[in-house]
Amino acid sequence: LKRQSTPLASRSANEQTIIDSFSNNSISDWSYYYTHGDHVAGRNKSQAQWTADKWTEAGIPSSLAEYTVFLNYPLNNSLSMTYANGSVFHAGLVEDVLEEDDTTTWDNRLPSFHGYSATGSASAEFVYVGLGTQRDYQRLADLGVELEGKVALARYGSIFRGLKVKNAQDRGMVACLIYTDPAEDGNVTVANGYEEYPNGGARNPSQVQRGSVQFLSTYPGDPSTPGYPSRENSTRADMSDVLPRIPSIPISEKDARPLIAALEGHGVPGAEVNRTGYVGAINGSSYSSGPAPGVTLNVQNMMEEVYTPIWNSIGVINGTNPDETIIIGNHRDAWIIGGAGDPNSGTAVIVELGRAFGKLLAQGWKPKRNIVLCSWDAEEYGLVGSTEWVEEYIPWLTGTAVSYLNIDIAASGPHPMIAATPELHKVATDTMKKIAWPFTNRTMYDIWNEDTNGTVAVLGSGSDYTAFVHRGIGSIDMGSDGGPGDPLYPYHSNYDSYHWMATFGDPGFHHHAAMGEYLSLLAYNLASEELIPFDLPNYADQMDKYYEDLSEVISVSSGNLSISDLRAAIDTFRSQAQEVVQLSQQAVSSNDTALLQVVNHKYRDFQRGFTSQGGLVNREFYQHTIFAPGIDTGYAPVTFPGITEAVEAGNFTLAQEWVLKTAAAIRVAGNIIKT
Ligand code: GLU
Ligand code: CA
Ligand code: ZN
Ligand code: ZN
Repeated sequence: LKRQSTPLASRSANEQTIIDSFSNNSISDWSYYYTHGDHVAGRNKSQAQWTADKWTEAGIPSSLAEYTVFLNYPLNNSLSMTYANGSVFHAGLVEDVLEEDDTTTWDNRLPSFHGYSATGSASAEFVYVGLGTQRDYQRLADLGVELEGKVALARYGSIFRGLKVKNAQDRGMVACLIYTDPAEDGNVTVANGYEEYPNGGARNPSQVQRGSVQFLSTYPGDPSTPGYPSRENSTRADMSDVLPRIPSIPISEKDARPLIAALEGHGVPGAEVNRTGYVGAINGSSYSSGPAPGVTLNVQNMMEEVYTPIWNSIGVINGTNPDETIIIGNHRDAWIIGGAGDPNSGTAVIVELGRAFGKLLAQGWKPKRNIVLCSWDAEEYGLVGSTEWVEEYIPWLTGTAVSYLNIDIAASGPHPMIAATPELHKVATDTMKKIAWPFTNRTMYDIWNEDTNGTVAVLGSGSDYTAFVHRGIGSIDMGSDGGPGDPLYPYHSNYDSYHWMATFGDPGFHHHAAMGEYLSLLAYNLASEELIPFDLPNYADQMDKYYEDLSEVISVSSGNLSISDLRAAIDTFRSQAQEVVQLSQQAVSSNDTALLQVVNHKYRDFQRGFTSQGGLVNREFYQHTIFAPGIDTGYAPVTFPGITEAVEAGNFTLAQEWVLKTAAAIRVAGNIIKT
């Protein structure tokens, strides 16, 4: 295999200043700071203020934006299993304390719990439901497995965890446990020669994945204020449709094994259920569905419900063009004391980014466009800080936002990835060519290109870009992880700690630094170039791909749908995009500032056209008609979602309606760039 090694692309003097400003050792210090104090949502004001102070010291005036939102915190929970003979297994529900890892020994760490989980208890027989997708539950029902009144035992993976709980609730089940199966990583990593943490970077069997169980396919943000910002005295909406009513608890492989074993031989074996990903990787288990007669689970989950302040730190660099803005964001809150990967690898990076821009400012640089730095709170509960901020500033954002750049888990390994709206693909990949990738003698572009075959992923949901994208603001999300076949990362567990990161995830913090350099150069170029460096014809190219995918979905369905209107709209958009490129070239070559401004404003505004005011069916928050998180995935994207999901549901009348709506949205976007 011949490995591509392209020379580093040349950097301007300001770009070099940014690169030289980045220090892996400083980033390690910032990481240490964030990962050694409580920063669960709503409990981290000192870290919010510290972040704002760091930016202010660097020369970027910063302050806190406070919202009062609905959150809940764990009081106590318990889980036990009573066998038919009356003997009892008590689940520990705690991760092992490891002397090697200082923050796992702290007393004030939270128990494992699900954010926004319901308070309640249940005592019932239980059923293994695989990944807990709608199709898994349906398949079990079709096979005659009784679900109603039982406790669901689902494995993590594939879809957003809150949807597993929702699907259980929709089936009349009384509680939901979600556990980490070795299929997710353990067997893979052990097979690849990694030892379990703390001896190696691989998952410790006591590891638990916390996380929100909000039904985020409906809407993200504070569940009590859909569509408007959460003030102390805001009117609060009924939340019963967007939060679970049945209790749920996350558990470890160690606690789940006796449960899986107790079901063995009862109900239908996993092989008969025969759904992709249903069966896990515990050796010797057939993943029988159960229920096992007389074997019951006793689940208790007590949560404290509060309306409480959260804090976004916001720093502003004013540009010479007040009406064009680049926004950079990362969340600060974690489930745990640690969060060295999620999210504080990104938090450490944006502190360092602020210092790099501060150096340019000190040299007299003033960007053409405003740059806003955001450190979000309460992302983990459901993108709360970012969504409330977007809901507050939507008129200003609609008027000025050019792009939103998101960095969540900046680094947990050496494989860079990006997902972005199509106009950003070119500048995002070109910028990679300016970044030397640690320990490789190659560029970030070479590594990324080799891993992904040069494919930029489509944005679904799962991080703070969501509210921006669905208000028509183009976005990129980025990070660097362990890569395929090497999923070492202790996501949402006590082991996502400084010790894990410094020992296994990114020793020396060099990948943190490289990702920070990348984000900074991308932001610098978007904010400084005379012509916003967008590639609009690529939007047409990507829509061609989505069109092919849709044709495929339609061809395997049984209904009839005409998508010629969609075809025509994409083709019109393409010629309008080509024309605006010509106009932009004319503006640049003649250095016509008035014309440049005309083009830049078209670039800034066009994406708003893709949004549909009423939003997608039954989820009005999600307005982008070209991509959205899947209704039963939560994370993974669906393209042309209005059409695709209607086809998949077999509703061709609705699908036809959405062909018209989607084509109309593409025409609106095209008319904005029309010359
Ligand atoms: N990133 C968090 C998670 O995956 C929050 C996702 C969300 O609520 O959208 O749990
Ligand atoms: Ca709100
Ligand atoms: Zn995160
Ligand atoms: Zn997270």
